[in-house]
Amino acid sequence: MKVEVDAELCEGCETCIELAPDVFEMEGEVATVKIDGDVPADQQEDVQEAADSCPVEAIIVS
Ligand code: SF4
Repeated sequence: MKVEVDAELCEGCETCIELAPDVFEMEGEVATVKIDGDVPADQQEDVQEAADSCPVEAIIVS
């Protein structure tokens, strides 16, 4: 699983950071992904929950 944040859509609500703090971090007023490459297996559920919870669907999981 890979994940990215569309900075154009992100409105900085920090929900993803609360749900998956090992994967997302704030960079200024938007969230970014702080890991390189694949999401570790033990983080994938939290990342999917963050993607499902993002109010503007800015989290892209592939
Ligand atoms: S949940 Fe969505 S809108 Fe909120 S900070 Fe994360 S990416 Fe941005």
